[in-house]
Amino acid sequence: ENDQVKYLYDMSEGNAGMKTLLGGKGANLAEMTRLGIPVPDGFTVSTAACVATMENSGEWPGHLWDDTLAALERLEERTGRRLGDTEKPLLLSVRSGAVVSMPGMMDTILNLGVSDETVDALGAEADNPRFAWDSYRRFLQMFGEVVEGVPPHLYEDELTALKARRGVEQDTDLSIEDLKELVATFKEVSRRELGRDLPADPREQLRSAIDAVFRSWDTPRARVYRKANDIPDDLGTAVNVMQMVFGNRGETSATGVCFTRNPSTGEKALYGEFLVNAQGEDVVAGIRTPRELSEMEAVLPEAYGQLIQTMHDLESHYKDMQDIEFTVEEGTLYLLQTRNGKRTAAAALKVARDMVEEGVLTREEALQRIAPAQLDQLLHPAIGADHGRTPVTKGLPASPGAAVGAVVFDADTAEERGRAGESVVLVRYETTPDDIHGVILAQGVLTAHGGMTSHAAVVARGMGKPCVAGAQGIRINTAEKKLTVGDSTFAEGDVITLDGSTGEVYGEALELVPPQINEDFSAIVSWADDIRRLGVRANADTGEDAAKARELGAEGIGLCRTEHMFMAADRLPAVRRMILAEDSEERAEALEAILPMQQEDFEAIFTEMKGLPVTVRLLDPPLHEFLPDLVEQSLLVQRLELTGGDQDELAEARMLLGQVKRLHEQNPMLGTRGCRLAMLYPEIPEMQTRAIIRAALAVKERDGDTATVEIMIPLVAYAKELQVQREIVERTVADELQAAGMEMEVHVGTMIELPRAAIVADQIAEHADFFSFGTNDLTQTGIGISRDDAEGGFLSAYVSEEVIPTNPFESIDKDGVGGLVQIAAERGRSAKPDLKLGVCGEHGGDPASIDLFEELGLSYVSCSPFRVPIARFAAARAVL
Ligand code: ADP
Ligand code: MG
Ligand code: MG
Repeated sequence: ENDQVKYLYDMSEGNAGMKTLLGGKGANLAEMTRLGIPVPDGFTVSTAACVATMENSGEWPGHLWDDTLAALERLEERTGRRLGDTEKPLLLSVRSGAVVSMPGMMDTILNLGVSDETVDALGAEADNPRFAWDSYRRFLQMFGEVVEGVPPHLYEDELTALKARRGVEQDTDLSIEDLKELVATFKEVSRRELGRDLPADPREQLRSAIDAVFRSWDTPRARVYRKANDIPDDLGTAVNVMQMVFGNRGETSATGVCFTRNPSTGEKALYGEFLVNAQGEDVVAGIRTPRELSEMEAVLPEAYGQLIQTMHDLESHYKDMQDIEFTVEEGTLYLLQTRNGKRTAAAALKVARDMVEEGVLTREEALQRIAPAQLDQLLHPAIGADHGRTPVTKGLPASPGAAVGAVVFDADTAEERGRAGESVVLVRYETTPDDIHGVILAQGVLTAHGGMTSHAAVVARGMGKPCVAGAQGIRINTAEKKLTVGDSTFAEGDVITLDGSTGEVYGEALELVPPQINEDFSAIVSWADDIRRLGVRANADTGEDAAKARELGAEGIGLCRTEHMFMAADRLPAVRRMILAEDSEERAEALEAILPMQQEDFEAIFTEMKGLPVTVRLLDPPLHEFLPDLVEQSLLVQRLELTGGDQDELAEARMLLGQVKRLHEQNPMLGTRGCRLAMLYPEIPEMQTRAIIRAALAVKERDGDTATVEIMIPLVAYAKELQVQREIVERTVADELQAAGMEMEVHVGTMIELPRAAIVADQIAEHADFFSFGTNDLTQTGIGISRDDAEGGFLSAYVSEEVIPTNPFESIDKDGVGGLVQIAAERGRSAKPDLKLGVCGEHGGDPASIDLFEELGLSYVSCSPFRVPIARFAAARAVL
């Protein structure tokens, strides 16, 4: 063991840059100390000490306890107080503080140092014995719960019973005699549960408290939270040991939390809550309903003024919205925590935009403050206007957005039903950190109790989940699983709708509408446009999609699938005639019928795109997808045979069955599809090319816009395939242009979606003007998995067992499939330096994959129209 390791840091030794070692809370407390902001004195036990302890099966490293005692002694000297002293006792808080903030997930012990020996001195010094006993009963409960593992409700039940006996509502209404009685009862509760007394020596208590905070890193709820937020499990927590300041020392004392801007909307307005004569978690836990921060001006004017100034200073210093905890002890303000505030997506955009306008941040800095996932949230649905329904009740608008789901009353059920794919709304009196697994799987959260800074509100905002908090009009009967609002009762499974933007709750399912993109959104995405290098296109198959894509800022169409055009009901008969044709003459006739329909589709798209590039993929799926299902057709034939029905009908059904059987493939995904089909039936690419060119010429003549046409050949494995297909396309283009007496440039390229194509990309590039990586199929063929079979099966197990980090269909498999892309890009460009390289498929809209595509120097990504803004934004982030 290394005796040189420094595990303990006095508050004055640290700064905001030391988060890894001191945790976020500890580093920011040190930073505030450095800035001269009033913070109670103390020291921090580093995350390294926690990690060393975890690695050593819970044993502390040799010198840690001695170092702690030494740090305590230094603190005692600085404060002029001693732990356990019977005249000037030092009281401590022992607080967890991880590197990445995990609000409320780990444990804190307050008032450590109050005991039978010190309680009188504490009361005498403050000239307020009631406060001393209030602190004592709080300590016994917290220490019993957190350190000794006594079930919290045992203490709560005693407190509730006492209040009932006294006929009072609030803790603050209890007399000093009541509190003394409570102290005796709490000791008895602990003794009964543990079969022994709590340790009496405050130094021993301190050691157990630090150890309990270490252990709280590994509670189930903390692990669930880390998993949900991608926080590594091996970071450990720091422990902050600080002198207590007392918000429960009477009417000139208070405790509260505040944000420097509104974390729901981002507005620069006062936002916070406080409680007079209260301590610690009273505000967040919703034990008493807190008061709005603005009311503090009248009650504690001096401390209020200081707080407003400090909020301003901290925001300027950190250049970000701050989430602050404070306590006022007999009129004096202390800061207990500051961190960059969690906020809704809408607030994140507004704050970023305002701070750029205020000159606090550059655009680049502002973009880095916003997570792509937050933009995603804004693209989620909201309750449509004009629904004309009356809410059954209203609570606080704690986290915006709309949720429709079945009522459930506990987190386990929410998790279970949510995982099964059901939309559920978690309804709780109030949530605690132990409900986190249910919150993750719920569409939204409704609580009867607690304010805008209650646990449910904070957690929901962080996750972008709608939440209505403190809906006082609801009654929840957890045992009978009933929710009562006025005259209406909802059982588990009944559907309700929450509007987290207004706080309204509806007793039915309301229709949700697609979200609107506001000015902040547009402004930020347009900054991204100035910064990004990658082009962003959309996948669109219709004029309507194309219009949406343009509206959302797409610079072209990266993938226009033509098979959808074949499948429309009015076309299927012609398509079937084409497939079932006995010879190529018959086939040509059927194709002739399809041609004008295809042309019409392309015209609609070219019209919307006004000359921007459009990549049209020629027919890709296997032909039998256009025919009836094999099993169904067999059954039809059988039925007709058995009923001895119409003979003509039977003959036709049998003929069709024969065709279906002939075209049936064991593994169509790897079968006669893509260019393989076009190699067998060259009439198909020829017809499609004619339709494309005629459409482009028609639009040119009508609007004057010359379409930038890119014809893409799917599923190429061999250079020869592309060579042959290119010849067909070019011959047909020349033919059409000559007939029309017009000129137009047409590019021909290919999809790269087979490993062979990636490997021989240099050969293929000889015949290609561009490559477009079809990363969906490249993932299937590159890893060798069938998406439809795997996603409901082994793939989800692989992700949860951490065999692989993420589903490779959501974020590209960087090493494997990404490696194929890299090889193809390099080899393709080695043969043709100006080869254009795009990506179509869902990865084109995934920020993590976009990072890789930027790194590989591709030309553009293409994704569904709704993801275009996210892709524009992510492409900018990828270069920052
Ligand atoms: P959490 O991770 O739940 O926010 P904290 O460590 O911030 O836990 O502690 C919770 C609350 O305990 C704080 O918000 C504050 O009100 C109270 N608290 C912590 N330290 C002190 C202290 N030194 N004096 C008074 N109150 C404290
Ligand atoms: Mg806590
Ligand atoms: Mg805190």
